[in-house]
Amino acid sequence: MEIYIKNILKLLGEDTEREGLKKTPARVAESLRYLTSGKQQSLDTLIEDALFDSTMEEMILIKDIELYSLCEHHLLPFIGHCHIAYIPNGKIIGLSKLPRIVDFHARRLQIQENLTCDIADSLMKLLNAKGVTVIIEAKHLCMMMREGEKHSATLKTSVMRGVFRDDIKRRSEFLSLLASK
Ligand SMILES: [Zn+2]
Repeated sequence: MEIYIKNILKLLGEDTEREGLKKTPARVAESLRYLTSGKQQSLDTLIEDALFDSTMEEMILIKDIELYSLCEHHLLPFIGHCHIAYIPNGKIIGLSKLPRIVDFHARRLQIQENLTCDIADSLMKLLNAKGVTVIIEAKHLCMMMREGEKHSATLKTSVMRGVFRDDIKRRSEFLSLLASK
């Protein structure tokens, strides 16, 4: 991969032997591997034994999980926050695992719309939950930095599965919990 990155730098008119760029191909290769490492992991190993039996029947909401991903159209980052709510069906998941599930799906070439679905679907499957909602709010550097674009709009995507989709009461409960500080 380093050879290709070196060639890209040359095509950009750079002197790849100058001090600041000497180690750049190696650094870029390493960082790209890390930023796409979700593909090499398995969700089962990631979750291990962090699923617990529970009689909890109400909504569990975790807000403001940091999110960093790479847009597959431009290979530029999109960054923001993810909010996840679920209604258990006999099983709950260790809280620390939710950010790891987000990273698992975010550390690959993504688009925000699919990332939102991927997180929701894997939680539905893992927990056999009664419902899952995922909201992502993110800023896309490809929108902000490229010529002629220059706007810092936030893209907001939401996915509702199970009872959140069908039950208006559940949905408004979620929205008011999300809005509260
Ligand atoms: Zn993009």
